[in-house]
Amino acid sequence: MSINRPIIFPKTNSGNFVSTEPNKLAFNDGWQYAPAPESTDHVTIDQRYKLFIGGEFVAPEAGRHFETINPATEEQLSSVALAGEADVDRAVKAARKAYNGVWSKMPASERSKYIYRIARILQERAREFAVIESLDGGKPIRESRDIDIPLAAAHFFYYAGWADKLEYAFPGRHAVPLGVAGQIIPWNFPLLMCAWKIAPALACGNTVVLKPAETTPLTAMKLAEVIRDAGLPPGVVNIVTGAGETGAAIVNHPDIDKIAFTGSTEVGRIIQKAIAGTGKRYTLELGGKAANIIFADAAIDEAVEGIVNGIFFNQGHVCCAGSRLFVQESVADEVIRKLRDRMETLIVGDPLDKNTDIGAINSASQLETIESYLKLGQEEGAQMYQSSCAVPDRGYWCRPTIFTGVSQSNRIVQEEIFGPVLAIQTFRTLEEGLSKANNTPYGLSGGIWTDKGAKIFKMTQGIRAGVIWANTFNKFDPTSPFGGYKESGFGREGGLHGLGAYVRLEA
Ligand code: NAP
Ligand code: MG
Repeated sequence: MSINRPIIFPKTNSGNFVSTEPNKLAFNDGWQYAPAPESTDHVTIDQRYKLFIGGEFVAPEAGRHFETINPATEEQLSSVALAGEADVDRAVKAARKAYNGVWSKMPASERSKYIYRIARILQERAREFAVIESLDGGKPIRESRDIDIPLAAAHFFYYAGWADKLEYAFPGRHAVPLGVAGQIIPWNFPLLMCAWKIAPALACGNTVVLKPAETTPLTAMKLAEVIRDAGLPPGVVNIVTGAGETGAAIVNHPDIDKIAFTGSTEVGRIIQKAIAGTGKRYTLELGGKAANIIFADAAIDEAVEGIVNGIFFNQGHVCCAGSRLFVQESVADEVIRKLRDRMETLIVGDPLDKNTDIGAINSASQLETIESYLKLGQEEGAQMYQSSCAVPDRGYWCRPTIFTGVSQSNRIVQEEIFGPVLAIQTFRTLEEGLSKANNTPYGLSGGIWTDKGAKIFKMTQGIRAGVIWANTFNKFDPTSPFGGYKESGFGREGGLHGLGAYVRLEA
């Protein structure tokens, strides 16, 4: 008899293989895939990283550094420069000089050649970047390899193509670059966020000072090498690593023309206050609490995959994660049963293993936040269910978790948890589903699962969110604009709209 499914080797929780019984080739406790770790041989991580300013790697003025660790092992990977105000000032000066002297004057077709070069080098070094992304941030190698790195390269390709076509992007208007852009990004898609920020800024003729997040600086420093190797004129891209105060120094620097921020709504508010009245332009891409809505006429098995992808993808460290599930009442029992079955098959563990579905939580403090919400959810009276999978002893881990029996006012329904935690509610009519989905201060994304096109149109028109997926979830493309309503921020990144955030339009 041939068994038409992946071969699964039985393994105890301690990692020892046990004898095989053919009739047990199915998913159940103690049965796992054989390990398939990605090799790290081709990767070098320096013991110490400097700042990338004016085309050179320079030491921070105050000589301070901080550690970046691997959240799956808690081991230190490298020590990274902590940029202070003086370093940020130096970076802004380098960016201004490059803007005035070279970049804003260069023919657009020349600018695009540099951006294409960055895209191609990223593709050539994709494996190395994927491994470093997983080591530094904890995300499964399958995602960094198949999503983060190829999409980052795709953004550079896409915007390279626009650089000399701005007159077609804005017909009848003259697009003028803004000047020096200060860009601050989070830890959930470290390289991809660099690409979202840098590619459109450069295509439009701006120069940049970018700060990666404290826990995931390594791919940004590797990108600095790529930028140097691509021969970009010194100062066009400057990368300053550091903490929140480094970000604040960028925000408050008087010679920055535009702030592009992706991160929490809380820090977004601080930034908005800080730059009020300064004339700086800004875009804020903030938090989310997306509704994933399953109608009874949906293809239920596909919808269950969509729910899993929506909330457990990247450990739920996704601003547009489908963290609120609304299921039409008549199919709720079936959906929840199938979801629980599917959760039991998810593999939590080594991010470098190609079988891993859910990697490490990005940091100890993020795990603490998630765990405080798990406690809170139970205190609020909801029923919690977690998969029974084993998790490694060291590192930061959270089993996939669902809450049922929640109400709209519960904090686990209203607040962003940013972890693999799903709150499930039911609805009867389309109108009820819509009003529940919109009962949130956020409005970044949403998902709809139904067999009926009319319902898709009705729901997409009614949901107050920037991106809505129909019969799929968490799909990204450089041509598609992305951004929020309400407390999810404003301004759009990606696509043609993403260019508008980096130019002033003149007659
Ligand atoms: P965060 O705490 O707001 O940090 C984001 C970035 O801002 C980091 O580089 C951080 O530096 C820096 N920062 C912290 N305090 C600052 C200040 N006072 N002034 C200037 N910069 C400051 O957010 P996070 O925890 O890293 O990321 C998770 C959040 O990002 C979630 O809310 C998620 O929804 C949101 N997000 C939104 C989108 C979107 O497109 N809408 C995309 C991804 C993530 P340190 O790392 O050193 O603290
Ligand atoms: Mg790290």
